[in-house]
Amino acid sequence: MSSTLAIHEKVNRLRREGRRVFHLGFGEGRFPVHPKLLAALRDNADARGYAPVAGLAELREQVAEYYRRFGLQADASRVIVGSGSKSLLFAALAALRGDLVLARPCWVTYEAQARLAGKSVTAIPTSLDEGYCLTPDALRDGLRRAREAGGNPGILLLNSPGNPTGTIYPDELLSELAVVAREEGLRVLSDEIYALCAHGEVAHRSIARHYPEGTIVTGGLSKHLSLGGWRLGVAVLPTGELGRLLMDHMTAVASSVWTTASAPVQHAAVVAYGGDPDVESYIEACAAIQAGVTGYLYRQLESLGIPCPEPCGGFYLYPDFAPWRRALVERHGVGTSAELAELLLERESLAVLPGSEFGAEPAELCLRLSTSCLHGLADATAADVLSLAAERLPPERLVARACPQVVEVAALLGEFIAALGVAEPAPAVGGRVS
Ligand code: PLP
Repeated sequence: MSSTLAIHEKVNRLRREGRRVFHLGFGEGRFPVHPKLLAALRDNADARGYAPVAGLAELREQVAEYYRRFGLQADASRVIVGSGSKSLLFAALAALRGDLVLARPCWVTYEAQARLAGKSVTAIPTSLDEGYCLTPDALRDGLRRAREAGGNPGILLLNSPGNPTGTIYPDELLSELAVVAREEGLRVLSDEIYALCAHGEVAHRSIARHYPEGTIVTGGLSKHLSLGGWRLGVAVLPTGELGRLLMDHMTAVASSVWTTASAPVQHAAVVAYGGDPDVESYIEACAAIQAGVTGYLYRQLESLGIPCPEPCGGFYLYPDFAPWRRALVERHGVGTSAELAELLLERESLAVLPGSEFGAEPAELCLRLSTSCLHGLADATAADVLSLAAERLPPERLVARACPQVVEVAALLGEFIAALGVAEPAPAVGGRVS
């Protein structure tokens, strides 16, 4: 089981035992289902037959049109719909030649999937100084090292907005990485599942605009529409020859593994990708509330002096507790991010994930905090969410209304840090290219 799912189950167990736990361990959108999507799902509950392997023709058309609006060269014949984007990422990895290269820290699943597909993985360390983004130099260096070690790097995985760091790759950097990818003959797998959860200050852009012939973009309904359980993902493949080959290979994987995405959900997804102004405003409202809550917690961390990249999209924060390393070791025997996460759960009832679960060195003291499960809007209506967003409240008032738990989380972290004492400049833990 992945660590993200494991922490979720642990929190549920502790709660059943009567403990009040603040769940910052799971990245699951918790806004209510938009009524138009609910109605579409209900109206299509009798769509009981198998849909085509690549997805309903109508949905593939809508998805292509949706992505064209964002400047991609998308064509319905190169769109594949799957049971969540996770399965499509795996199908793409299984279909593409060569080993995987990615920036670290990164989402837990990529490496596991690459290994399942028989590939080796080159993880290139990134740092807070670079906003945890891969740079062209680091990419070239990683490729060189991978080749020297006998590997055959062929696939670059990018994830923007990113999990676990919440950073967005600036467009200029994407264009520079596209140059390297083209020169080095890499295929780019661009995981853009959080694209519509961008907070607004930095716009989300796709590397596919700079490298259309070599990029596969994945997305889906899980994050911006809080529909993870509906399991609907999409992949937009290049329009040229590579796209044709990939379509064949990926549909072969799909037909052997999940056959097709759930038919009623695909019908509802036609509405989700249809550009309906109500649904679009709802997506924006959810993103704005999530941005307000995540930004609020970021500023609290900042005021406590905890180094952390400013979140630009999604639900995540990636603070670094290295300045308190000495106190953590001496007082609590804590020397790794896993031990730190354990301590926070035991002492402060804060459920978080250690950076080591995202490929960070165990001794780096980074944690991933997710704000998505904290807000109290799960039982609200979509209309409540829309009117709350329309009020454009300052962060303190928004948080008080939408997510009072986050104020308690900030206070608990404040007490925890105060008890540790004065921060010290800590030596960085050296990165390793695996
Ligand atoms: N990519 C990233 C970075 C994620 O964090 C997740 C889910 O947590 C996914 C992909 C999977 O999304 P889906 O629900 O579409 O399978």
